[in-house]
Amino acid sequence: MAPTPATSTSHAADQRFCASGTRPDEVHVLFAGLDPIAATTALLMADAGVCLINVTDPTPVTAHDAAAGPYPPALTGSPREYALRKLLRARWPRCVPLSAPELFCSSVIPTAVMLRSTRVAGPLPQDLSVPVLATPPDAHLPTITTVTDGSVSLTWPLLPWYRRPCRECLEAAVRDARRLLRNQPLRDHGAVATPHSPAITTLTRVITASQLTVGLLGQALDSEACPRADGAVEAPVGLTIRHGLHRAELTPRGDCLCTLDG
Ligand SMILES: [Zn+2]
Repeated sequence: MAPTPATSTSHAADQRFCASGTRPDEVHVLFAGLDPIAATTALLMADAGVCLINVTDPTPVTAHDAAAGPYPPALTGSPREYALRKLLRARWPRCVPLSAPELFCSSVIPTAVMLRSTRVAGPLPQDLSVPVLATPPDAHLPTITTVTDGSVSLTWPLLPWYRRPCRECLEAAVRDARRLLRNQPLRDHGAVATPHSPAITTLTRVITASQLTVGLLGQALDSEACPRADGAVEAPVGLTIRHGLHRAELTPRGDCLCTLDG
């Protein structure tokens, strides 16, 4: 029987969710950057039974955030981290989220994972807004990086924090993705949304957040599948471009020390 999303918090449901015996409420997750995709991922993680959630992003909820969801318009202007904590507590009273990345556990805890999320805030790839942490996390903390560029998301494979893609690589990937989409528009005749539908942004957010939740939970609940003490993670296959229902792979550039195949 295929596992089902863990909307139940019962021990039995958790065991069904994770064959290794690790329960979702033992998972520690740090969110750095709380754009709508990251916020949706945090809510999905809480839906799956994750309680130990640490969120950091003091920038205010914008009208764009509220329009894209899941932030409600009433919280526009509030710090994103405050707004998301409020949403998490309202959804799951047993979830007590923190905004204290300096207190986040080290990668010695096998159920610790991180999502680093950023967004292209202007028209150019260099308008990328990358979250800055005053206290960097543990160098080996398994981390997924994602970038939102309008209605497009880019997601890097899970890597130790010290091998995260650098700003230059993030910008290069945004340029490459724009070029790819311009030269080879992704088409799917079964798509419910047209390329110009406002639903595209919502689809991108929801599908990307679902994939991020699977990736983070998969690592946290079965950490032996991805050894990290020596940085010997599974070989990444590239980064994923998501535009609504469309998906493509992009090969990262290999001329940077942070390169994924380095
Ligand atoms: Zn780089």
